[in-house]
Amino acid sequence: MSDAGGVDGHVARRRFGQNFLSDPNTIARIVSAIRPQADEIMVEIGPGLGALTAPLIGGLGHLHVVEIDRDLIARLHERFDAAQLTVHEGDALKFDFAALAGALGANLRVVGNLPYNISTPLLFHLAGVADHLRDMIFMLQKEVVARMAAAPGTAEYGRLSVMLQYRFRIGRLFDVPPGAFRPAPKVTSSIVRLLPLPPEARRAKDEAVFGRVVAAAFGQRRKTLRNTLRAFLDEDDFAALMLDPGLRGERLAVADYVAIANYCCGSRQR
Ligand code: SAM
Repeated sequence: MSDAGGVDGHVARRRFGQNFLSDPNTIARIVSAIRPQADEIMVEIGPGLGALTAPLIGGLGHLHVVEIDRDLIARLHERFDAAQLTVHEGDALKFDFAALAGALGANLRVVGNLPYNISTPLLFHLAGVADHLRDMIFMLQKEVVARMAAAPGTAEYGRLSVMLQYRFRIGRLFDVPPGAFRPAPKVTSSIVRLLPLPPEARRAKDEAVFGRVVAAAFGQRRKTLRNTLRAFLDEDDFAALMLDPGLRGERLAVADYVAIANYCCGSRQR
């Protein structure tokens, strides 16, 4: 099950989520949405066969990439020299973006046509280093982008929406059909932009507590807050927060979750 068809002499690996962009108009549209400018510090996740890499280097002069597939890494070294490209070999889920930003002394722009099989954990990983990012522009499965940007009360709204909207302004840009890739994926894709909010806009006193409250609220989607947040709030606490314990987690805005987390930090040791 690891192979899904040959592209330019490379056998696409499903386990690495390899669907390579092949439509020149789509590639040009994505690069123009990214707008690479000379001397910006940019990291591309999953450069693959270089469909975005080459035009990005054209705009920037130099690009960092994180790639896991050794065959593709060898091809990248053949095609680009060290003055143009720094290849970080390995798993983007484990890559220390904060350390790279620290070493280079600049916040990073992070872009990529992401491997869809790891997109959610990768977004959580990147959310943890929001203070070291200038912006991010990604191609993802359309349904994932809908979840990222979802409003409270909708079916798509969940833990991913709350955790990302707490840290980023999220903008959906445009859709990309399966025919723009080789091999073609089964799903439609979307381009999304994430702009970090200023640190002062993030009002949780303890972001770990905030994360735990949000995870609990969405852990069992069909249950009410009275049940899902039992470990954090009793009936009096709900009353003090002026929240209806009969609601489900999907009804609460990001600010409500911040208020709950701060109430837990401020009023009680839990
Ligand atoms: N950017 C290329 C394009 O648009 O044609 C390739 C995109 S392809 C959807 C995903 C890329 O991410 C592949 O090159 C794949 O090898 C790489 N990849 C998959 N899992 C990865 C991981 N955990 N860390 C870094 N790169 C990964």
